[in-house]
Amino acid sequence: MAINFKGLYIGGQWVNTASHFDDLNPADGAVWATVPDATMTETVMAIRAAHDGFKAWAALPFQERSNYMLKVASVIERRKNDLVEALRHEGGGWIGKGMFEAGYVPEVFHAAAASNYAAIGEILPSENNKFSLAVRRPMGVITCISPWNFPALLTARGTAFALAAGNAVVLKPSEETPYTGGLFFAEVFEEAGVPAGVLNVITCSRSRVQAIGDELIDHPAIKGITFTGSTAVGRVIAARAGAHLKKACVELGGKDALIICEDADLDRAVKAANFGSFMHQGQICMSVEKVLVHEKIFDRFLPAFIERAKALKVGDPSRDPASIIGPLINDKQAARVKEQIEDAVAKGAKIALGGGVNGRFVEPTILLNVTRDMLVYRDETFGPVVPVIPFSTDEQAIAIANDTEYGLSSGVITRDESRGLAIAQGLETGMCHINCSSVNDEPHVPFGGSKASGLGRHGGRWSHETFTETRWVTLDRGGRPFPPQF
Ligand code: NAD
Repeated sequence: MAINFKGLYIGGQWVNTASHFDDLNPADGAVWATVPDATMTETVMAIRAAHDGFKAWAALPFQERSNYMLKVASVIERRKNDLVEALRHEGGGWIGKGMFEAGYVPEVFHAAAASNYAAIGEILPSENNKFSLAVRRPMGVITCISPWNFPALLTARGTAFALAAGNAVVLKPSEETPYTGGLFFAEVFEEAGVPAGVLNVITCSRSRVQAIGDELIDHPAIKGITFTGSTAVGRVIAARAGAHLKKACVELGGKDALIICEDADLDRAVKAANFGSFMHQGQICMSVEKVLVHEKIFDRFLPAFIERAKALKVGDPSRDPASIIGPLINDKQAARVKEQIEDAVAKGAKIALGGGVNGRFVEPTILLNVTRDMLVYRDETFGPVVPVIPFSTDEQAIAIANDTEYGLSSGVITRDESRGLAIAQGLETGMCHINCSSVNDEPHVPFGGSKASGLGRHGGRWSHETFTETRWVTLDRGGRPFPPQF
C-alpha cells in the first residue's frame, strides 16, 4: 500500500491538493507514496505564508531561533530510522548511505544554531568619527530548491542556516524525493513547534516544476534563491534571479578528478577511488569521475582497484541491506549512463570491469583508453562509471583534471604533503582534498564550486553570508562638516 502524505505544509497547516503524483521506488518502479501536486495557487499561498511568518521570526531573540534549530535536530535524531527507511525506498540508496545522511542532517541544524552566536557585523573606521557599522540582516523569504541524490542533507543545507539567520523559507524538493527532501522536514518542523510560516513545503510533479519554479523566483516577496541541482537548470535559475537582481546561490554538477601520484599509499588510493567513484552509484556531485594515475604505479593500481570494485554488490537496497550499488534514480539517468558507456566503447575505450546495464541497475564500471572526444571524459556521468587515465607529470595531471567546464572538488593522493598542496594550487576547483577522495563535506566549511559547478558557498559563516545582506549603518555625533553653502 502506497503511503499517502498529509498534504503540503503551508503556514503551519497541512493543505490538500486536487491532484497527486506517484513517488516511485527506483529499484522496482513500485509506487511507494502518493504526493500532493501543488498548483500555482498553493505556491503563491506558500510564498505569502512565508512572507507573513518572516517578520516575527526575524524579530525573535537569536537564541530562540537557535533553540528551534536544536529542537529540529533532536526530532530528526529521534526519527533517524524513519528517515533511513525512506531514503532506501524513495531514493534507492544503500542502508549505509541512509545512516550517514540521517546522522549528518542533525549536525547541519546544530551548526546553524551555533552560527547565530558569531559576530553579525564589524565596526569600521570613519573619516568623520562616526560610529560606522557593517551589519548583516536576514533577507526575507528564501526559496530553496533541492535535488534527489542526498535529498535530506541538501535540503538541510539549503534551509537550516537561512532559517537560523531569521529568514523564512519556501522549500520545493525534487519530484523524485518529495518526502525525504521535503515533507519529512514539514513533519519535523511541526513536531518541533517552529512557528507557522517559517518553513513552508510545496511538492509538485515534473510537468509543473517549470511554472512553479519560475514563480518561486519571480514573486516579489522572494528575496533570495538557493538551488542545488544540475548545471543546466542552475544556469536558468541564476539568470532568471539575476534579471530580478535577486541573490542566487547555485550548487551544481561536477566532473571531479582523483590524482594518484607514484608515491601514494596504494591501499589508501584504491579505497579513495572506490568510495569516490561508486558510493551511491556515483550519484554524488563530488563523485570521482576521472581517476588519474601516475604511469609508474598504473599497473599495480589497476588490478587492486578492479578487485575492490568487483566486491560491491549490486541489488535492491530497499530489500537487501547488503546491496551497496542500488538503482539509478530513474530511467533517464540510466539511459544517460548507458549512452556514455556505449559512446566510449564505440570510440575505442576498453571495459576493465562491469559495463552491464540492467534496467536502472548499472554495474560498477571501470574504463580504460578514454580520450577527450568521449562523452564520459567531458560530461558529468552521475553513475557508477569511471575512466582510469595514466599521467607522467604533475602538470599533465593538473591539465587533465582541469580539462572540463566543471570545477567542484578534487582529490590528490601523495605521501609528499608539499607536492599535494602544490597540485591543489593548480586545480580549478572550489574544493580539494589531499590524501582523500573528492567526496567530503562538513556543515561548517566553505562548500561550493568554481566554473560551471556553481556560485556561492554553503556552510558555517559562509552560509551566513549567503543568506543575509550586509548594510552600512552610521551614527553621526556632530562630526561631519557640510559645505558652508548648505
Ligand atoms: P535537476 O537540476 O534536474 O533538479 C534539481 C531541482 O530543480 C529539483 O528540485 C527539480 O524539481 C528542480 N527543477 C528542475 N527544473 C526546474 C526549473 N525549470 N525551475 C525550477 N526548478 C527546477 O538536478 P537533479 O537531477 O535533481 O540533481 C542532480 C544534479 O545535481 C547533478 O548534476 C549533481 O551534480 C547536482 N548536485 C550538485 C550538488 C552541489 O552541491 N554542487 C549537490 C548535489 C547534486
